[in-house]
Amino acid sequence: MSSTATVNTATSLPQEVARRRTFAIISHPDAGKTTLTEKLLMYGGAIRSAGTVKGKKSNQFATSDWMEVEKQRGISVASSVMQFEHEGCVINLLDTPGHQDFSEDTYRVLTAVDAALMVIDAAKGVEAQTIKLLEVCRLRKTPVITFINKMDREVRDPLELIDEIEDILKLDCAPVTWPVGMGKQFAGVYDLHRHQMLKFTPGDNTADSEVEVLDGEDHPYLVEHFPIAHATFKEEVEIVREAASPFDHQAFLAGDLSPVFFGSAINNFGVRDILQALVSWAPSPRPREARQREVLPDEADFTGIVFKIQANMNPLHRDRIAFLRICSGEYRQGLRATHLRSGKSIKLDHAITFMAQERSHLSEAYAGDIIGIPNHGRLRIGDVITQGETLKLEGIPHFSPEIFRVARLNDPLRAKQLNKALQELGEEGTIQVFEPLEKTGMVLGAVGQLQFETVAHRLLTEYKIDASFDSVPVHKALWVSSADAAAMKRFLQSNASRLARDAAGALAFMAPNRSVLQLTIEKWPEIEFHSTREVG
Ligand code: GDP
Repeated sequence: MSSTATVNTATSLPQEVARRRTFAIISHPDAGKTTLTEKLLMYGGAIRSAGTVKGKKSNQFATSDWMEVEKQRGISVASSVMQFEHEGCVINLLDTPGHQDFSEDTYRVLTAVDAALMVIDAAKGVEAQTIKLLEVCRLRKTPVITFINKMDREVRDPLELIDEIEDILKLDCAPVTWPVGMGKQFAGVYDLHRHQMLKFTPGDNTADSEVEVLDGEDHPYLVEHFPIAHATFKEEVEIVREAASPFDHQAFLAGDLSPVFFGSAINNFGVRDILQALVSWAPSPRPREARQREVLPDEADFTGIVFKIQANMNPLHRDRIAFLRICSGEYRQGLRATHLRSGKSIKLDHAITFMAQERSHLSEAYAGDIIGIPNHGRLRIGDVITQGETLKLEGIPHFSPEIFRVARLNDPLRAKQLNKALQELGEEGTIQVFEPLEKTGMVLGAVGQLQFETVAHRLLTEYKIDASFDSVPVHKALWVSSADAAAMKRFLQSNASRLARDAAGALAFMAPNRSVLQLTIEKWPEIEFHSTREVG
């Protein structure tokens, strides 16, 4: 690895970088992600009281729910970014849509963070969405902190929950706190590192309330008031001490081991411990792999990568915000850099940051931070903006779509406009578009159903095209490549009717069903089939 980078020592850049923590909060819907986000923001002083973020069942909308579609459906389509300070650290919290119709956005958000906070509903354990999200975390070796929520309810056996996380998610668990009882008999959690019990009091709604601490695991209060829960706890803790992995910082940073905390988000219980873990254990911004070399966060030159585009955040302005993760250096208002895809100079003037319900302009930001750059379509997902040399950053993949549709025009005269619009939405990353080699009509691919609704909405409002979507006999699209040009040529000839090009021109095999896919893979050993394709 060569290093042409100069490390900036003249300013406080290294200190600013060192105090940043950028993480995403992930869970299956209803596990309590929104509730926990709100409590974290309360601790960070970004909001003052509960109810500011959460608003699904009222007329108020969650901080992250900017888009019209979200308002109509009351769910999070878009991931949002929130920044706050805690104990000297600047924490960037990225929300991920939790609904089962979630989209590629969710995956891409995970490429912009250095750690993840996984919320598990203690009554339900590991659920479908958690599994998918953890797969992406594993790809990138993202360190994961686990919060087992809703201990104030009748929930599952905590040992069983730990087993499930280890078995299904293939993640070693190191319990940091352990619950004493549950539901009506929930006495609190015992901190296995500090050897103290944190007493549970229901209904906490402010960040300031002090949690009562009882020393030792046999405190008379416990023995007297919660004899059964205490006895069970003693048995469980013995097993945990013998069988569970101890916390190992290196294993955590490598994404192999997760510290586990129990609590109740709605009661603001256990939240402070998570923040503590983020501050003490989660990594500060990590170096970013580029094809040429590693990009270090404290290099003086600014480098950032666009991982998400949000359209129509404000319907009055028809604006588009590119979310950019700063990988190195710092942003100052008016910063000039090169937009690598076009090779042109770009001036970053009005970057915005996100604080609870407000968007505010910011004058400086550092590696690890996420900034929003208003633009009119110039910036796309995977674009790199840098003051340094030309770099090819790794890390914003397209994931093989799971649902396929073709667009049907309700006004046939708009066919040309439809193709152009879909191409644009494809380039922007809203949906994946595949144009069959035999020109039989554009096929759209998405990770979640909701992406089609977003596309329909945007086609109507931005392009004035009224379209609906029909199903299409495609089971899977896998990108294909081969080191053997002659084999590739033969493959192309034999499979022309099942091949298509995506928005970036990459070739994909569109399998109509599982068995055709299997047979094709077996028949063509020289061809590689990929379930992700890197953007750029
Ligand atoms: P999300 O879909 O993951 O964002 O979940 P929410 O934060 O919206 O929570 C889903 C439901 O679980 C809501 O009704 C919350 O009030 C409830 N909830 C969240 N945390 C807790 C908790 O600690 N205990 C209990 N009993 N309910 C909770």
